[in-house]
Amino acid sequence: MKIICIGRNYADHAKELNNPIPEDIVFFMKPETALLQKNNPFFYPDFSQDVHHEVEVVIRINKHGKYIEERFAHKYFDQVGVGVDFTARDVQKKCKEKGLPWEKAKAFDQSAPASKMKLLSEVGDINNLNFHLEINGQTVQEGNTSQMIYSCAQIIAEVSKYVMLKKGDLIFTGTPAGVGPVKIDDHVQAYLEGELLLDFNVK
Ligand code: ZN
Repeated sequence: MKIICIGRNYADHAKELNNPIPEDIVFFMKPETALLQKNNPFFYPDFSQDVHHEVEVVIRINKHGKYIEERFAHKYFDQVGVGVDFTARDVQKKCKEKGLPWEKAKAFDQSAPASKMKLLSEVGDINNLNFHLEINGQTVQEGNTSQMIYSCAQIIAEVSKYVMLKKGDLIFTGTPAGVGPVKIDDHVQAYLEGELLLDFNVK
């Protein structure tokens, strides 16, 4: 499986990092080894002093597809959850300055904690899902999928022009404003439609 992440998909987050609203979809990938499941702890990597949380709605692809039309995209996923796109912001800054790829900052081991997935039909309308992140009980990020620049259907249509989607792939759909650092001993909890789905500690 692979993990596809959408960059700059919420205008308020693009603004807080002084990034322009993209004219075209921005995506990048994390390898399978980035996945952190079952609420296992996240071990702070020694190559960064500024790992940021980015809470995101995650969808799971349920069949192979290439050049998927937007109007058929809903047939390619039926499960949804939440995840954190951990980003070594200090490392990413250096990559950006030099015009280098982001993998060191985005694709490292455990950089993609993801909740168990729920059937979308039991959660609600994919284009109107509330989600938020709490660190040590304080809400630090909140969003609604209606605020996404590219909807899930548009993401699937755009990404599948370049990359074949396969069953089991996860798409992290972008983060709203409020990204910030985590530190060792933090308690991280992500909610979807008010339900706690992801709950782990930073060690
Ligand atoms: Zn992200």
